[in-house]
Amino acid sequence: MAIKTILTEPNKALRQISKPVIQVGKSEQKLMDDMLETMYAANGIGLAAIQIGIPKRIIVMDLSKDENKKEPRYFVNPVIKNKNEINSTYEEGCLSVPDQFAEIDRPKECEVEYLDYNGKKSFLKAEGLLATCIQHEMDHLEGILFIDYLSKLKKSMIIKKLSKNKLRRIVV
Ligand code: ZN
Repeated sequence: MAIKTILTEPNKALRQISKPVIQVGKSEQKLMDDMLETMYAANGIGLAAIQIGIPKRIIVMDLSKDENKKEPRYFVNPVIKNKNEINSTYEEGCLSVPDQFAEIDRPKECEVEYLDYNGKKSFLKAEGLLATCIQHEMDHLEGILFIDYLSKLKKSMIIKKLSKNKLRRIVV
């Protein structure tokens, strides 16, 4: 396994639409292992492949709170089959939008069809944080970031701040 660099906004690569995986083979499993390790190292709860620059429809997540009891989840080619009309609100952040948070409304429940780590067709009914996290990660597959749901002004302020931080990092 290897820790990869997480791309941060503004970065055009994050705006790509990821391509479906044709078959879950050894290289996809290695990618999922790397993604998980990268996510853990960054203290994230979800990561899409495009966040490490690979435009494949793959997501990893782990919502477990216990450090010693990891519960990794893998979603390949996830598709939302059903969404609840009722929304819930969470304060969201993103490893690709460092140190920025905002309240985002999303359907409270959703049903997802996907392939698991072994390429087996699977189905999950998610609610609460799990549902929000899946939808956030699936947005990445379409090149969408959570800041896209904010007002133009708020979004441009965040992007400006992030660009400045990047610049500062280079100068130091
Ligand atoms: Zn994200």
